[in-house]
Amino acid sequence: MKLAVDLHSHSGYAGGVGQIELTEVSRTMKLKGIDVFGSGDCIFPPRTEELKHELKEVESGLFALPGDKSKFLLQTEVILTTKLAHKKNKTIAHHIILFPDFESIYKMQALMNKWGMKNTIGRPFITSNYQKELEDQLFEIHNIHSLLEIIPAHVMTPDGIFGSKNNLDELSEFYGSFLPNIKAIETGLSADPKMLEKIPDLAELTFISNSDCHSAALNRIGREFTILEVDQVSYKSIIQAIRQNQVNMTAEFNPAEGKYYLTGHRSNRKGHSSEIIFSNKIPQDLICPVCNKKMNLGVRERTIQLQDNSIIPTTRKYMHLIPLIEVLAASQNLKSITSNKVRRIFDIIMNIFPSEIALWQSDSIQVMLDKRVPQKTINQILAVQQGDFVFQPPGFDGIYGNLIIGDYK
Ligand SMILES: [Zn+2]
Ligand SMILES: [Zn+2]
Repeated sequence: MKLAVDLHSHSGYAGGVGQIELTEVSRTMKLKGIDVFGSGDCIFPPRTEELKHELKEVESGLFALPGDKSKFLLQTEVILTTKLAHKKNKTIAHHIILFPDFESIYKMQALMNKWGMKNTIGRPFITSNYQKELEDQLFEIHNIHSLLEIIPAHVMTPDGIFGSKNNLDELSEFYGSFLPNIKAIETGLSADPKMLEKIPDLAELTFISNSDCHSAALNRIGREFTILEVDQVSYKSIIQAIRQNQVNMTAEFNPAEGKYYLTGHRSNRKGHSSEIIFSNKIPQDLICPVCNKKMNLGVRERTIQLQDNSIIPTTRKYMHLIPLIEVLAASQNLKSITSNKVRRIFDIIMNIFPSEIALWQSDSIQVMLDKRVPQKTINQILAVQQGDFVFQPPGFDGIYGNLIIGDYK
């Protein structure tokens, strides 16, 4: 059976946003069609207690609010840092950890304690002084439970394992003998399977896609997601599907929308009166010709560096997607997704289709929506479904790409 999962999120404890109610998350999950959602920040003690207090275990390893259908899986993100002998700077890489039960979370907290790691923020650091120490930490976490899963997060972004700051050539430089336990990676918002599957170290791994959202908004939850093929709805089946690459499809940002896609500097940086973006001929030393400061190498360029073109692409199925609410706003020439007009159209569509995912997978959108929503809106939904949209300019230096649907040619 197919299961739509979004396994990386953050709570209010990760900073940037206020508290996010699980009831609100559940409501958005249903509208989007997400069956199982990663709780976010589950090892941060106040969050652990909140989750334990509010959720009941409904299937083995999956949790829900009382009387509610939306399912949660216990998940956190951690930042692993170490000092590799052959690298000048520290190597820093974000990771998702999935937990089968609260018992395992308490064991994780005990490990953090033993190592003297501060567990005082939603996304904690686990630091080590050299690679072997990191490797030992990874094994200790892994050994907490046979169904605990450690997954490199948004691998190509500056904070990801293969990001430009780390500048690693191979995963083994970081993971050492732990590497065989890495079965999957998260593609992240700035990369898609097509870009990643030609990287030798990633070619054989499972690719999953998650929203990494910090809000319950309709354009955040499920902005990227994965449809897994599972035997049953349980934590164990989800982990097995991830380990055995039973992915039906992933829904991805168009990489050009991602905030780190191209190399450049945004206009509001010191010394800049306008932005500078390189789509090719990137300065070798990465020094910005305007402000003379160093730029982060964009994900596109970094991916090209790592690719081996002799690798034959597999048949990973994925689609580029824009959240429906953003498509509706764009079709009405409105910037805000919270406009009443946009929300009204959204509600009409949600009365016709069971969820947003069901809409995107439908081949009768025109018939179903005909005369019930503006034809221009239907045209734009169809254009997005067919991948007929671009981002001009693409994302760079922390700024999302600018969406243009359909009529950009
Ligand atoms: Zn992260
Ligand atoms: Zn600059």
